[in-house]
Amino acid sequence: MSEIRAFDIAVVGGGFGGAAVAYHLARLRPSASIVVFEPRDFLGGGLAYDDADPAHRINVPATRMSLIPGDDGHFARWLEATGAGRDDPDIIGRDGFLYPRRAVFGRYGASHLDPLIRAGRVTHIKARVQSLDRAHGQWSISTGSGAPFRARITVLATTHPAPEAPPVLAQAGADPRIVGDTLAPDALTGISPDAQVVILGTGLTMADVVASLDRQGHTGPIIAVSRRGLRSRGHATSAAEPFGDFTDPAPPASQFLRKIRQTLHEANALGLSWHSVIDAVRGQAQVFWGKLSPRDQSRIVKHLRVYWDVHRFRIAPQVEDVLNRRTASGSLRVLAASLVAVKPDARHIDVVVRRRGQQTLETIAADRVIVTTGPAHHKILSTQPYLAALSAAGRITADHLGLGIAVDADSRALDAQGTPGDGTLLVAGPLARARFGELMGLPQVSEHALRVAEEVSHLLETSGVAARDALEVN
Ligand SMILES: Cc1cc2nc3c(=O)[nH]c(=O)nc-3n(C[C@H](O)[C@H](O)[C@H](O)COP(=O)(O)OP(=O)(O)OC[C@H]3O[C@@H](n4cnc5c(N)ncnc54)[C@H](O)[C@@H]3O)c2cc1C
Repeated sequence: MSEIRAFDIAVVGGGFGGAAVAYHLARLRPSASIVVFEPRDFLGGGLAYDDADPAHRINVPATRMSLIPGDDGHFARWLEATGAGRDDPDIIGRDGFLYPRRAVFGRYGASHLDPLIRAGRVTHIKARVQSLDRAHGQWSISTGSGAPFRARITVLATTHPAPEAPPVLAQAGADPRIVGDTLAPDALTGISPDAQVVILGTGLTMADVVASLDRQGHTGPIIAVSRRGLRSRGHATSAAEPFGDFTDPAPPASQFLRKIRQTLHEANALGLSWHSVIDAVRGQAQVFWGKLSPRDQSRIVKHLRVYWDVHRFRIAPQVEDVLNRRTASGSLRVLAASLVAVKPDARHIDVVVRRRGQQTLETIAADRVIVTTGPAHHKILSTQPYLAALSAAGRITADHLGLGIAVDADSRALDAQGTPGDGTLLVAGPLARARFGELMGLPQVSEHALRVAEEVSHLLETSGVAARDALEVN
């Protein structure tokens, strides 16, 4: 019989967020034993940065993507020191900033975790967690093979589930011409250069798909469809400081929105672009979000999220250039329309849409249909057996905004009674964003990882690990 392996802390998910928690914990608590469960080959990449497609770039400048909160230049210095990205002739955007390929950022994350793994400070178990139960005052973690692992504290960081296909697509059954998950291996291979492609969704993933198709020589027509037809925006042509003070939002939500609009006018009058105002809102979101009532938060998410997402999450200039070129040549059209029906036949998939504000239907004869509607966070608890079981046991609950998992101000998961239980189950990264507001972009994910690591460190302090650390330091 194999032996049970016991750790102080288990992190489930070793994308950038989970890896950053492990990294900070290893520094804060040198003698703590840390295990990270991650089926990928390395820690620190995850869905976003374990990505071999050279057309995919980080979407904020390198100088704002850092593993170390407060040290914005950390990644840029790593690029300089290692020469990573020197083989990339297009690494510099037209705004003068570096936008390396996403894989390079993944290597940066891994290069900080690998030494900890080699030193035995962090254990990487290359497997998916299948179940997570509380037994004998500890967490029991199973990967489906071998004896379970035990941990005193567990951090959940399995952020992004696969996208959910629009229900209408069920009409096409399992048609191989429909790509349901663009991040699955070889998702875009075999698309002929002149294929007419319909993309469902017009945000960041749509931009990535167009860049990938373009790079692989596709020149045929692409029609991207979403209800409002809003495309992710690019970065400002020149850098500017955030503009506006939103730290004290006056309820109700409508007042707050008026304040944002007014600040946009003021910025415009001063010759500043809207980017500065949105950057101020984003930077202060974690301060003001908690001051809004759950009702106001819900109204903002419901009515504003779609506009927020396209202004807040910007595309790299290199990718924007591809989109602009294809739009100018007429080979990319973005439609504001809803999907009415999908009818596959031997030659095409007929995609029937209704343009926004119109009654007539339009049929597009697509060779391929690609879903880019984004990860199905609103269904997170049913996307994985281990989360479904935790939810059924009442140990975790969906948050009130349908964005992820309910947590308290210390990022401890709230149980069915709305309490953190014994406080030993935490959530790191975007799944906790209903509590903190803006928590999706890398800068916020990085800051949150440090806060979670500090909270875990604090929890350990009451149980002997701090004393071990003190002995080691002496
Ligand atoms: C495609 C994409 C590109 C992005 N690009 C940028 C960008 O350029 N700049 C920016 O600021 N933000 C970007 N983001 C935002 C992104 O959310 C954060 O930057 C950050 O990467 C989130 O990391 P994470 O570790 O929380 O999540 P994830 O990357 O989703 O990592 C979760 C990890 O959990 C693992 N996992 C899942 N289930 C299990 C299980 N049962 N057991 C064990 N492991 C499991 C997965 O394999 C995965 O590696 C991007 C997001 C996406 C989806």
